[in-house]
Amino acid sequence: MSTILFHEIVFGPIHSRRLGSSLGMNLLPYDGKLCSFDCIYCECGYNKDFRTKTKLPDRDNVKAALEDKLIQLQKDEVAIDVITFAGNGEPTMHPQFAGIIDDTIELRNIYFPNAKISVLSNAMHAGKQTVFDALKKVDNNILKLDSAILDTVRLIDRPNSPEYSIEKQIALFKRFEGDFIMQTMFLKGSHNGKIVDNTTEREVSAWLEAVRATNPKEIMIYTIDRETPEKNLEKVSLDELKKIAIRAEKLGIKVSVSG
Ligand code: SF4
Repeated sequence: MSTILFHEIVFGPIHSRRLGSSLGMNLLPYDGKLCSFDCIYCECGYNKDFRTKTKLPDRDNVKAALEDKLIQLQKDEVAIDVITFAGNGEPTMHPQFAGIIDDTIELRNIYFPNAKISVLSNAMHAGKQTVFDALKKVDNNILKLDSAILDTVRLIDRPNSPEYSIEKQIALFKRFEGDFIMQTMFLKGSHNGKIVDNTTEREVSAWLEAVRATNPKEIMIYTIDRETPEKNLEKVSLDELKKIAIRAEKLGIKVSVSG
């Protein structure tokens, strides 16, 4: 069983391939995982293997933990580029997510005014007005779209809502009017006897169409970096990622590639 669970509310700073020196924020249980997706590549493992009855940390505790950490980092003269909401699942599922973002902005402005605030989200809850408004306030609103083909999303990301639809997600993305970063994991392999490959021409064409329709300010393309719960997965080569990036750049969008 593979897993990297974060056992604290605030962790790091760690070096992030995509974001630099990143102070991590985990709003999910410290001893389990909570997500509305169940991606076959999730570094936290499958949802079923990490169920927990532990409560989510409340807003006051999150604020206190973050402030303590920022004071300590200042004292130790450790610089951070970004405060990143990720952790053991989907951060926007926390019922006090909006208030926590307000607190984080307040503390960032006091202690590390140059640090950015990033949220890595599967975008499933962006339709909730409080979540939408909070995501609008952060510097890097990073929303996942691994494929624009429903069967592939059901195979790779496995959203737990039977109502998940690509059209609905695209409509949600459009509401940000370009003020978001799209993140896409490219990978190959197999899962439950089915081929996994979101780099085929059919996949990339559909994905580019979704990119064009939603017009993100930036795209982050990446591939597997660590152990995955599905073992039959492999990295996509840097060369292939770059070819996909070039096609997206032709739409006038900045693309970063992490191989
Ligand atoms: S959306 Fe993120 S946290 Fe949720 S299962 Fe997928 S990779 Fe894991």
